[in-house]
Amino acid sequence: MTRKIGLPLGLFGTGILIGALFLHAAAPQRPPWLSGVEWPVPKAIDPGGLGKPPSDAIVLFDGKDLSAWEGAEKWKIEDGVAICGSSITTKQAFGDCQLHVEWASPAEVKGTGQQRGNSGIFFMGYYEIQILDSYENETYVDGMVASIYKQRPPFVNASRKPGEWQTFDIIFKAPRFDEKGKLREHARVTVLHNGVVVQHNFELLGRTNYRVPPYYEAHPDKLPLSIQYHGSPVRFRNIWIRELEDDHEELLTPLRNKLREIDWAFQPYNG
Ligand code: MG
Repeated sequence: MTRKIGLPLGLFGTGILIGALFLHAAAPQRPPWLSGVEWPVPKAIDPGGLGKPPSDAIVLFDGKDLSAWEGAEKWKIEDGVAICGSSITTKQAFGDCQLHVEWASPAEVKGTGQQRGNSGIFFMGYYEIQILDSYENETYVDGMVASIYKQRPPFVNASRKPGEWQTFDIIFKAPRFDEKGKLREHARVTVLHNGVVVQHNFELLGRTNYRVPPYYEAHPDKLPLSIQYHGSPVRFRNIWIRELEDDHEELLTPLRNKLREIDWAFQPYNG
């Protein structure tokens, strides 16, 4: 049965297809759309490789010394690894940035909760992404590893076992304040823990504090980055940062405004 009607239907279908192609070819076509935005050509960089920073990164620790930091006198460097012995602060100030850091909590497990492998990355000295040994270690979830401290837990717990190397790749957007010091734009952060997205463009509520609620207070556009010492000899290696200077948003503004004015109901799609 199927075979008998197959041929006439096939011919009919082919006819429709040819007809459609003819109509399509005959319809007047718009030229391709051009945005009109004159973008600068993105700079070519060497993206690096496994364990190697991109060529435009500022290396904060490459296994040799902590000369990029202040206050590292109590740290030890052994076999290319830096062992936390005090809170340290970068000499250079940063605003919007991408940070890569590899860390390992002590292999020998001591203490529980917040006392186990605690450290932290403080962007601008005020906004902490928690470092903690959260492998089978209970604590308040907005204080576990990769949390925005006391503001938001990570989506998942992507922890490796104590002593194993772990990575943080963090994209941080600094808050913006107006001339009067009023908050214009919250800080934002995206965190990948061991390659897994655990925070996605989170809008920070303010400074991350232990004893007081989060709040914003105006500060410069760029401030140094800190690594916290919380009594644990957390190990670090391969730390680098890239400044994210200018997204050229102003180049897109005229186009955004123009697109807003178009009444799409009268603009049918035409290839
Ligand atoms: Mg901490």
